[in-house]
Amino acid sequence: MRLRLAATLAALISLASTSAFAAAPRDCQPQAIRDLERLAPQGYAVYQAMRDKKQFLAFLTCSDVQLGLSTAVHESVHILTEQRDGYPLITGGLLPRQHSVSRFFPPREIAGKFKVDSYVETYLRRGAASSADDLMYLLDELNAYSHDLGSASQLVGLKQRDGEVDHRAGLAALMAFLLEYVEVAREHKATTWEGLRRPEIKQLLETLWLQAESTLIASLPIRGFGGEAYLQRLCDTRHGGALAELFGRPPIDPSACAGFATAASPTGAVTK
Ligand SMILES: [Zn+2]
Repeated sequence: MRLRLAATLAALISLASTSAFAAAPRDCQPQAIRDLERLAPQGYAVYQAMRDKKQFLAFLTCSDVQLGLSTAVHESVHILTEQRDGYPLITGGLLPRQHSVSRFFPPREIAGKFKVDSYVETYLRRGAASSADDLMYLLDELNAYSHDLGSASQLVGLKQRDGEVDHRAGLAALMAFLLEYVEVAREHKATTWEGLRRPEIKQLLETLWLQAESTLIASLPIRGFGGEAYLQRLCDTRHGGALAELFGRPPIDPSACAGFATAASPTGAVTK
């Protein structure tokens, strides 16, 4: 699930109900797919992997092709993850899901560690997305947002109108959630902490984290992509001790945090 999905669908329904615009939303799709292949080959690989292309195209709105494509990639990654019981990686290949993590404590228990915003509401609140109840789905979101931001970063040139979209905020939020989850596990949830340290689980987390981290860092020079509040948290050395212990390295390359200060703008902070 992508946070802006509901708004996108509402806009689509609204457009479709107006006869003058009924055909408009799909006009861009053939060119958009060609642009995806040319500019974001790893996003195009997700499109190619979809057995039913209509499932991809359903999310490809034309009012903002950059957003439409990255949303379609995000949602398609979720579909592929379910179909294959594994996380498709940006560089190719499939990382099998580890169902044992579903027995770990529910991610919603870390919600109180964050200021309430739309990401906390969507992904950590009880009764919202399945990521609130099950770490396996929180990792699903982490992977989907990595693909999402990776494609959005490569599709910047397709932006046809003003208006900033927080393409970076989702991935930064999911990384902050995982970082805090591991922190709480080490401090208060002995069984989960023990489980997280099992080699196959640690490797799963590390692979998804490194992919997320490199995607996030690569996006930092792009202005107007949002996520500053979560970036600051990820770069705050008071957080992340447990993840550092688990991985044997800082959660985020400290040199990237120094550079992030130049990408940050107070107006883009997540405050909803
Ligand atoms: Zn999602």
